[in-house]
Amino acid sequence: MEQTIKVWKCTNGHALGQVVRNGSGVRQLLLYRQAASEEGEVDVLAVVEGYVTDVRCSLCGEVRTWVPGQEAMERLLEMARRR
Ligand SMILES: [Zn+2]
Repeated sequence: MEQTIKVWKCTNGHALGQVVRNGSGVRQLLLYRQAASEEGEVDVLAVVEGYVTDVRCSLCGEVRTWVPGQEAMERLLEMARRR
């Protein structure tokens, strides 16, 4: 199965992380420790499945908010219902 990897960037084109889909088709953000200006070695700080605000680009200081896909929200709601 081919996995689609989409780079999540600030408006100045620095890569802040990668958007991937896990085995259940849920979108996740692999948040980089440091923003990257070009492809190369990256250090993943965290895997984010929910909502995350104020992700700051370490290169230009731009702040962005990660909004997960609808499927992730639905899954979170389902998990909450099961508790
Ligand atoms: Zn930037």
